[in-house]
Amino acid sequence: MTARRLLLLGPPGAGKGTQAQLLVERYRIPQISTGDMLRAAVAAETEIGIQAKAMMERGDLVPDEVVIGVAEERLAQDDAQRGFILDGFPRTGAQAEALDALLERLGTPLERCVALTLDEEEIVSRLLKRAEIEGRSDDNETAVRHRIAVYQEQTEPLVAHYEAQGILRRVEGTGSVEEVAKRIEEALG
Ligand code: AMP
Repeated sequence: MTARRLLLLGPPGAGKGTQAQLLVERYRIPQISTGDMLRAAVAAETEIGIQAKAMMERGDLVPDEVVIGVAEERLAQDDAQRGFILDGFPRTGAQAEALDALLERLGTPLERCVALTLDEEEIVSRLLKRAEIEGRSDDNETAVRHRIAVYQEQTEPLVAHYEAQGILRRVEGTGSVEEVAKRIEEALG
């Protein structure tokens, strides 16, 4: 099979992480989640982690140059050469442009962007539920509302960016994990 270079786009709580995990098993390619990498950096108290901690807790974005560096380093690793699933990166126009430029340099453009769609009240209720289960420090209601606003302002415009590239597929994020997985499968078909 040819390398699959996939991007999952969507608001926080839309199920990107869960769906990315299923795609990892299906295609045997790594999930690249800048959120997971940043949480690991916070836990390990690295320089980046110390810098990012307060911003993440508020639900603000970590500066582009920091996240771009983290993502580029990860994409350069061996296991990403056969393909990857980006989850939570890019999140701004500058990040998308940096990613486009990097992949163009490598001659390996993104193949598909799947945009998961979900309405705001469902996002809030899912994230507050996740807060109870996982105890993520950025899943309190104030931070959740703020992350949604940040998503709408900074990240949602990327849907148009990938639509213009002709690689966008919109997928309804409501319903069970299996239902959404099936829709994604069809969209990647
Ligand atoms: P996530 O797990 O993807 O929801 O990310 C959790 C938090 O990490 C976000 O609310 C941001 O503070 C930070 N973060 C993750 N990915 C990015 C990114 N691509 N750009 C900026 N900040 C990010």
